[in-house]
Amino acid sequence: MPITSNKPYRVGRSKTGLGLFATKPIKKGTRIIRYFGPILDSRIPEQDEIENKYLFELNGRWTIDGSVRKNLARYINHSCRPNAESDVRPRERKVYIRAIKNIEPGDEINYDYGTDYFKAYLKPIGCKCDSCEKKRKKLRAEARAERAKVKARTERKATKKAPTKTAKKKKLNGHAIGKPNGRARG
Ligand SMILES: [Zn+2]
Repeated sequence: MPITSNKPYRVGRSKTGLGLFATKPIKKGTRIIRYFGPILDSRIPEQDEIENKYLFELNGRWTIDGSVRKNLARYINHSCRPNAESDVRPRERKVYIRAIKNIEPGDEINYDYGTDYFKAYLKPIGCKCDSCEKKRKKLRAEARAERAKVKARTERKATKKAPTKTAKKKKLNGHAIGKPNGRARG
């Protein structure tokens, strides 16, 4: 039996690689999983130098190195409209991931990684969370609709202009007719 069988989650494929998915209904407010790993002290140079994408800063001094294999919470992806949140307890040096919505089996579990992470890692490549994908889709649809509107307007203008052009041409023709006459007279 898999180790996670009694847990309400499992690691699975997500759009961006791996993610953590609910296998049982998880009620809003429930502690889902602990984000854990060795505690790093920023005042110790060797520990301050450690760099990986699973570092979870508790405060200015303490950071959890969540890159350890047993820390399944490291698979939880970021979302701008998440169904969970990180419950950070600097004094206990612990972080729990807690449901902020009722989560259904099969749903991917997400939390917001925070502004600093977003600016540093997600904004440059474009956030792939469902909320941002939807926003991008909506913007693309709006841009498409706008282009269609502009095109329709241009076409309407073109059809309106057409008679004017013919009228102008007639006038010009009139002048044109007049000119040779004038020249002929001169
Ligand atoms: Zn997003």
